[in-house]
Amino acid sequence: MPGVRVLYGSKDGYELQIPAINEIESIFGIKWAEKIWDGLANPPEVPGNIELGKELSEIVGNDNVFLDASTRLKHSLGMSSPEILGIRNGKFPVIVDAVVAPGYEDIIPLLAFLESRKMHGIIYGGGTSVNGSLQSQKGAATVSISTERLRKFQISDSYAVIGTGWKGMELEKKLNSSGYTMGHFPESMEGSTLGGWIATKAAGQESNYYGSIEDRLLAVRIIRSDGDLADTISPRESAGLMAKDIATGSEGKFGIITEAAVKLDSLPLKRYYRSFIVENFETGIAFLKNMKAIPAISRLSDGMETEFSMKNSRDSIGLKYVRKMVKIRKFSNPSLLITIDNKQDRITKPPGSISIGSSPAKIWERDRYDRPYLGNELWMRGIVPDTLETSARWENLVELYHSTISLFKTLQGERKFHGFIMSHISHVYPQGACIYFTFAIKSNKEPDDLIAIRDAMLSNFIRMGSPVTHHHGPGNLMRKFVDSRKLQMQSLLGDPVFSEVG
Ligand SMILES: Cc1cc2nc3c(=O)[nH]c(=O)nc-3n(C[C@H](O)[C@H](O)[C@H](O)COP(=O)(O)OP(=O)(O)OC[C@H]3O[C@@H](n4cnc5c(N)ncnc54)[C@H](O)[C@@H]3O)c2cc1C
Repeated sequence: MPGVRVLYGSKDGYELQIPAINEIESIFGIKWAEKIWDGLANPPEVPGNIELGKELSEIVGNDNVFLDASTRLKHSLGMSSPEILGIRNGKFPVIVDAVVAPGYEDIIPLLAFLESRKMHGIIYGGGTSVNGSLQSQKGAATVSISTERLRKFQISDSYAVIGTGWKGMELEKKLNSSGYTMGHFPESMEGSTLGGWIATKAAGQESNYYGSIEDRLLAVRIIRSDGDLADTISPRESAGLMAKDIATGSEGKFGIITEAAVKLDSLPLKRYYRSFIVENFETGIAFLKNMKAIPAISRLSDGMETEFSMKNSRDSIGLKYVRKMVKIRKFSNPSLLITIDNKQDRITKPPGSISIGSSPAKIWERDRYDRPYLGNELWMRGIVPDTLETSARWENLVELYHSTISLFKTLQGERKFHGFIMSHISHVYPQGACIYFTFAIKSNKEPDDLIAIRDAMLSNFIRMGSPVTHHHGPGNLMRKFVDSRKLQMQSLLGDPVFSEVG
């Protein structure tokens, strides 16, 4: 049986420049040429439940029921680092009993069947969850419900009604062919679905301009085991709680989000790109805070991330210029700021910064969906990459940044793992920003180190008055950090088929 790919995406490889490779080799004490893992897993050949398969086939049709070990494993996990690390170490998750892909008309009978058998359902969109939200409970019979056949597509003037099984990249392409954009561009665009975006309360990279997923929704339809909840499609409504309100952030617990009416924008006529080096991360944050208008993308990297981008830069002439200017200007911890906008007049030069033209911003945009493939390359060399993100008010942001970085370094000293941590500001608001941490470790006790780091960082976010996540959703991995009153409130809205899972 061929192995199951558990790393991100469908492509292979990510080109790294020699100085970046040297840096990684020196931090982790590895040889880049030596891969220790191919990113594939061979699941235990536990036979599928034939009887269950027959019953499910009667509801959704033979071709839409999968009992083979590979498909079941693939649908039993997401892409969080603890899950991938488990697989890499040969520790498999609880594997679902069957995978089904219902059409719209099959959903109510399917949910009624699962409820009558007291079975659990886990809704599976693109499987790019990074918070363990696709994990099953031990001992509970569970069916993974794939949304891949929910493919409605009706485009009207300024909005479209779309089935939630559409994946980001294919959906955007289809909308673009009619001159529209949905304005939602998560880094996981290749694999994540409209339903997943709604269920996790996602934010795309251009949320400064287009808003996050909740701002793009006019109406939602959810199918539950007790029937369906559907909003009327209108520009705005105040007749109480709407289906879209309970769908957003529901993480597959309140029913299957089957379609959504989403707002469309016309494609921008032109894009404007500018890049700068600011003296340090703090100066950059102060600039973002005081910006009069916020460009669609205002991405500020800290010193470590900036240095790594420079080491991985192909443009040697531009790079020489940057290195020279930074030296002349005696910048303490140079930080890269890239801005992209659909309206030129909103991009201003940060005072005291070095203007480095449009190329870094253009390159960032060109590669925006390929960067996760660098993570794959690290996994294959025995390194464990991970990310955590939160949002903070301006007054807390710098302290949150420093305290989180220093926590990581303290743990590194105490637990003696190889590693690095870097950060950037990814989404900007008048009141504050989303801060995103990327880190990677290598040790002989990675599962323990990883959990220690994640727990310490998440506790620090909470200590600083920040949420455990700005856009990934808590899932099962961060659930213990979510306020118990909030969980209680959510359990009131739960559907019996989904609510007990996780
Ligand atoms: C490399 C990478 C980059 C990422 N970048 C971003 C980013 O820029 N912004 C961002 O917000 N997130 C990002 N994420 C996280 C992830 O892509 C999002 O959480 C995404 O919204 C999940 O969508 P999915 O279709 O893959 O959902 P899945 O992973 O399949 O499911 C996620 C959750 O949603 C539920 N669900 C899925 N579909 C439905 C439905 N139709 N009805 C009800 N519940 C449903 C599932 O049960 C589960 O609880 C990234 C992840 C990766 C791996």
